[in-house]
Amino acid sequence: MKVSGGGMGWGEREREEKKPRKWRKGLEMKVGGGPGGVVVGGVGWGVERPSNKGIKHTAHLGSPQTQRVISNNDAATMQQSFPMNGGDGPHSYRNNSHFQRQDINVSRTMIEEAIAKKLDVKCFSSNPFRLADLGCSVGPNTFIAMQHIVEAVERKYLAQGLKSEMPEFQVFFNDHVGNDFNTLFASLPTERRYFACGVPGSFHGRLFPESSIHFMFSSHALHWLSKVPEELLDKNSLHGTGEGFTTQVAQKKAKELVVGGMIVFLILALPNGIPASQNPYGIMFDLLGSSLMDMAKEGLISEAQVDSFNLPIHLASPEQMTELVERNECLTIERMELVNSRSKLVGPINGKEYAMYLRAGLEGIFAQHFGSGIIDQLFDSFSKKIMESSTSWNQATKKEFYCLLF
Ligand code: SAH
Repeated sequence: MKVSGGGMGWGEREREEKKPRKWRKGLEMKVGGGPGGVVVGGVGWGVERPSNKGIKHTAHLGSPQTQRVISNNDAATMQQSFPMNGGDGPHSYRNNSHFQRQDINVSRTMIEEAIAKKLDVKCFSSNPFRLADLGCSVGPNTFIAMQHIVEAVERKYLAQGLKSEMPEFQVFFNDHVGNDFNTLFASLPTERRYFACGVPGSFHGRLFPESSIHFMFSSHALHWLSKVPEELLDKNSLHGTGEGFTTQVAQKKAKELVVGGMIVFLILALPNGIPASQNPYGIMFDLLGSSLMDMAKEGLISEAQVDSFNLPIHLASPEQMTELVERNECLTIERMELVNSRSKLVGPINGKEYAMYLRAGLEGIFAQHFGSGIIDQLFDSFSKKIMESSTSWNQATKKEFYCLLF
């Protein structure tokens, strides 16, 4: 399987092993336009991933669930959608997204600092203050992130002596239409200090009226592509460029931002200078691929199915992002930070827990391509393989880092 920006086919490992692999720093940017502009942050993973039979992060997949997204500026585009596991069950995203939550918590201080130092609330004339979370899934992570931001903005108003002008807050929870919005809204915190509404549709298209959002946030979502890059449909290709680039989303979202508004994106970033074999995500996709190949050997799935499987994920490197940002006149890089929330974890990896985390996000896409009958076995096998490789995994996890860019 392949991952865009660093993915390759399973059979391509040997060729790829000869090439240098890089973990690069995250990236980020600020979308200008007016004072303040946009802040983009990034959480990193990175995978320049090969494997004995690789997972192509990016691309294709059998007969994808499709949805038509209409945007103000774009023609209607067909989009693939692979929602996280909904509901509140044992395999749900809701109950298996604490790794992402750690990243959000670790990034909190940086976001608060950005709001305190750079968000010029004096220039906002409109009430309410509108926030959007792009790719919010089902919670609770989105609620935690939105609460942090609302509190930080309130503090900013107070710090600027604008207590009497404290706005009301409105949060727009965005995700694909296939997202489990029922679970999201059923679990909204009762104590929240904002009005909530849902915005269905792809963040690759226009979602909001021009100049209407004061703060745009997204975490762990922008690596999902809206379509398969052509070059990854070509089996001989090792790398795709990935059109779902954070920069492109940021450009579109910049139109929706009020002057002086802010964007913070926590994205998965490619590691810099760390070989894939020592990168936790590299190891993870290798092990998943190895589990798939075991199943192919058992005749449960075919090798052809494994070869044609791609993950529509793009893992950007800071260099790529920087280059794209610099090419665009309305974007400027404000700040880049790397965060590695997992380096603080102590004790051995819990294979089952890690398999659950991955399954909550990827079950849909694997089931669509291989059939739901293989899912239990696939993630059981992956869980065992993680445990077996716990030494290299633990070492890799210590080196892993995430980035937040402003
Ligand atoms: N932000 C949450 C959830 C991340 S999971 C957290 O940090 O825990 C990624 C989410 O992004 C999924 O719910 C997925 O459906 C959504 N997503 C992926 N591509 C999208 C797109 N183009 N438009 C809207 N949502 C998208």
